[in-house]
Amino acid sequence: MKKSFDIIVVGGGSAGMMAAGRAGELGARALLVEKNDRLGKKLSMTGGRRCNITNAETDNRVFLENFPESKQFLFSPFSQFNVKDTFEFFEKLGLPLVIEDRKRAFPKSQSAQDVCNALINYINQSKNVDVQLNTAFKSFKIKAGKIIGINTSAGTFFADKVIIATGGLAAPETGSTGEGLNALNEIGHKIKEPDANLAPLRTKSKWVHKLSGTSLDDIGLRFIQKNKTQFKVRGRILFTHFGISGPMVINSAHKVKGLLKKGEVEASIDLFPDHDLGSLDKFFIKLFDDQKNKKLKSLLNTLLQKSLVEAMLNMLESDMIDLQVHSITKQQRKSLVQIMNDLRFPIQGTMGLEWSIVADGGVDPKEINFKTMASRLYPNLYLIGDTIDINRPSGGFSLQLCWTTGFVAGTHSTKGF
Ligand SMILES: Cc1cc2nc3c(=O)[nH]c(=O)nc-3n(C[C@H](O)[C@H](O)[C@H](O)COP(=O)(O)OP(=O)(O)OC[C@H]3O[C@@H](n4cnc5c(N)ncnc54)[C@H](O)[C@@H]3O)c2cc1C
Repeated sequence: MKKSFDIIVVGGGSAGMMAAGRAGELGARALLVEKNDRLGKKLSMTGGRRCNITNAETDNRVFLENFPESKQFLFSPFSQFNVKDTFEFFEKLGLPLVIEDRKRAFPKSQSAQDVCNALINYINQSKNVDVQLNTAFKSFKIKAGKIIGINTSAGTFFADKVIIATGGLAAPETGSTGEGLNALNEIGHKIKEPDANLAPLRTKSKWVHKLSGTSLDDIGLRFIQKNKTQFKVRGRILFTHFGISGPMVINSAHKVKGLLKKGEVEASIDLFPDHDLGSLDKFFIKLFDDQKNKKLKSLLNTLLQKSLVEAMLNMLESDMIDLQVHSITKQQRKSLVQIMNDLRFPIQGTMGLEWSIVADGGVDPKEINFKTMASRLYPNLYLIGDTIDINRPSGGFSLQLCWTTGFVAGTHSTKGF
């Protein structure tokens, strides 16, 4: 077994495969070390196994607005490899992409495994990359303050450059369990404690759990603290046996976590976000007038999902469920309208790392030179993908970050050979 390489890439996920393939393409003798028995385990699960491979916003400036805390770092790597390059890159590998709603791009084949296979082909094309599976990276091999290789479960491997692509802590069952971050911390890198970021939200409200499986397509969702709306979003919500989920909820988790640090948080669903309380009441006055002889429950069932109507009516006076519309009092109508405008429940937290798509935390971006992705502490060490602490929404932004940082590190680490 060869023990000495130009470059070692640790972690065979999205970012690591891109970096290893690029280094091999440029002629470097590279080793890709992965502890799983296959490459791209997390990648093959992405986007409901369809892989939301990037977001088709081709203006770098607009694209990077989605990285509010880190865009200043990202202009440089995105000037080297951006969304347009991602489209061209995968098309060249025989994997055309299609664009769906919210500019989300997917492989035309609708298969995340095809994305993995395309990257594996890329790695194999140059014949310069050795892949070492079932091998766990343990620590850096350091001599006179310089990284000269890595210690692994299969012994020590030496290289001039090392690229760390071991991921964050989200979905640890795919292999990203944090050893890479621990090793980086041991050699002096500052690591922000990982925590769930893009994750579903948890509530103890039983009526929410009971609605598990129900989804509402276009609702308003407010997050309230101390009786004041802190922020609101609009879109699709999915009820689950523990709380709420769906892209809109998952993308709110980062801010909700911040609020929970300051105190209790409530979520409030607005079932008719085009109406305020006054106009919703007017709408129901007219509706009740037109449908006087209908049972309230049957009328509501024509507007909303049955399970939701049941849950709402249970929150009101018990006999309302059987009332006919003409016998509903003004007060009862107002209570009903109030609930439809402000269906509240407490939020206890996120569902944690196991359920999260992306974790907060990782290497402080200030410790990285983003022109090359090299560490500012060790010039022959490169850090890419989810190992870096970069907050972003769902929608293809995470994988684009992997393609960009992987490409840039793969390119610059080969310089000087
Ligand atoms: C369910 C799910 C769906 C997602 N869907 C999307 C989506 O559609 N679009 C999108 O943009 N993003 C999506 N994401 C996020 C995206 O998958 C990640 O941001 C991305 O895969 C991170 O890539 P990475 O290479 O940095 O890390 P990872 O993919 O986590 O890869 C790290 C690799 O390093 C290996 N490793 C770790 N420690 C060691 C060690 N000590 N020794 C050797 N190897 C090690 C791991 O086994 C793993 O293979 C999704 C995430 C999840 C969990």
